[in-house]
Amino acid sequence: MEKEIANTVQDGQDIILLFTATGALLTGHFQLTSGLHSRQYLQCALVLQDPRDAEKVGKLLAEKFSGVKIDVVVAPAIGGILVAHETARALGVRALFTEREGGVMTLRRGFGIAPGERVLVVEDVLTTGGSTRETMEAVSRVGGVVVGAGSLVDRSGGEVDLGVPRRALLTLYVPAYEPADCPLCRQGEPVVKPGSRAARP
Ligand SMILES: [Zn+2]
Repeated sequence: MEKEIANTVQDGQDIILLFTATGALLTGHFQLTSGLHSRQYLQCALVLQDPRDAEKVGKLLAEKFSGVKIDVVVAPAIGGILVAHETARALGVRALFTEREGGVMTLRRGFGIAPGERVLVVEDVLTTGGSTRETMEAVSRVGGVVVGAGSLVDRSGGEVDLGVPRRALLTLYVPAYEPADCPLCRQGEPVVKPGSRAARP
């Protein structure tokens, strides 16, 4: 199992250790909310629960965009809020978040972006890139210029193309199986529903 994780990582052994130590990345046999089965389960919020760890990952994500001029960091709520906050802290810029309003990702709460401001869009986990794409559109609608997209984890194995430079601290390719096709079920390994056990203190 340890080997499986190592094989899926492109960079950042420290990041893997941090995710594993906080329980954010679990290895075993899991039933995802989609009903599919997987060898890995990711709950990114757990890596952000200690503010010092959150600050650390924000700094590392900011470093991935060194050399890029960034005026503001924007993330989709809720998962991206802390990521934007900590990345912006490292960059010394402000952090905003978007929310859905009538189904459309929008800047609310008086948040504004001046036309031409250079925006880094971030989120916690990128899977299909949908939330990041919607946030990029919200930024563009008000005249902001998206100069990059970042995430703590890229679950697409690096496949998603958003048309801007994209970086992640951790790139994973995590296959998910229909229960009928699941190799772990075939081996008779009991399946775990994450969230059904108590969180680490
Ligand atoms: Zn299974």
